[in-house]
Amino acid sequence: MVMSTDTAKKFVSFESLPDFLARLAQESRVYAPRREGRAVVYRLWGPDDKAEFTARPTESCKQVIFPRSEALFYFSRGGEGENPDASSLILQEAPEPGPAVIFGALSCDARGFLAFDPVYDGCGTGGKAKDVYYLKRRELTTLVVRTCKTPLNTCFCTWVGGGPASSEGADALMTEIGNGWLFEAVSDKGAALLQSLPDASEEQRAEGAASREAAQGVFPQPADIKDAPVSLRALFDSAAFWEKQTAQCLYCGACTYLCPTCYCFNITDESNGIKGLRMRSWDNCMSPLFTLETSGHNPRPAKFNRLKNRVGHKFSYYPKIHSGRFSCCGCGRCIKSCPSSVDIRKIVLDAIKEAANV
Ligand code: SF4
Ligand code: SF4
Repeated sequence: MVMSTDTAKKFVSFESLPDFLARLAQESRVYAPRREGRAVVYRLWGPDDKAEFTARPTESCKQVIFPRSEALFYFSRGGEGENPDASSLILQEAPEPGPAVIFGALSCDARGFLAFDPVYDGCGTGGKAKDVYYLKRRELTTLVVRTCKTPLNTCFCTWVGGGPASSEGADALMTEIGNGWLFEAVSDKGAALLQSLPDASEEQRAEGAASREAAQGVFPQPADIKDAPVSLRALFDSAAFWEKQTAQCLYCGACTYLCPTCYCFNITDESNGIKGLRMRSWDNCMSPLFTLETSGHNPRPAKFNRLKNRVGHKFSYYPKIHSGRFSCCGCGRCIKSCPSSVDIRKIVLDAIKEAANV
């Protein structure tokens, strides 16, 4: 719930931050970015960990709310040994996840969850088919977003309605000032998380506002992509355009697995003897197996069909049914980590230009 009253602003010095995290960790699982070799990844925070709040995380934090692989329920058949009783199937729910805090997330990643929310809330079924697994984790997770001051040349959050200190999708914001962090509650969940902290002074509040404004200044000016939905639809049947854009793609799937707004999954049963579990795992629409039907027919047999779907979904089909919101938060990970230098920004801009000449 978004706060209706004046937002609470608090301050924590750098040296006191581990104590604050330790207090949070007594009540919740706390995830914070941590450096591991050359990568920065979200991990469960422990008192011996040094959180990394400068470099951009290599991965997004989506796996905290949408795990890479999760048990939905466990099953077993009655009976013993060689004579299981097939008529008595016993189901057991997966344990509840419990509260969690994602601490120091990027604003693009927080906005990524906004692409998930309506879909997993059953928007396509009038709210009837809700995804209880996602919704429970979402409800139990508090997102603390840090102002980002270090855009990479692959970042384009400002193209898609975001920015380095966007509060969309966040419960609280944290901004580095002087010798510590200014915290600002955005939702009631965020206010509850921050309530034990000392209030920030007027000077610290002003410093925070100036720091957020300065961050805005180092981010790229947004390109005008408002025509993308119409342009991409106009090029739906242009195989030549899509083959050219896809020529380098290896359909490795790195772009989908790293994407904070990709929400497709697969369901599998893993069994061992008479016991097992039903689980869901992230899926990857760049793989030819993604749409392979049992008959052997594949509606997206070529890689250009699949890249067209990925880009079209994010910049055309999704915004068409979700009030214009792009299903891309501009994090740039698909660009940075693509082994073939496929650049989704270029595809969208090329599509707008090409459609104008059709
Ligand atoms: S990361 Fe690049 S090469 Fe791999 S599937 Fe995505 S666009 Fe293709
Ligand atoms: S499509 Fe690329 S830039 Fe957009 S949210 Fe996904 S990974 Fe980030």
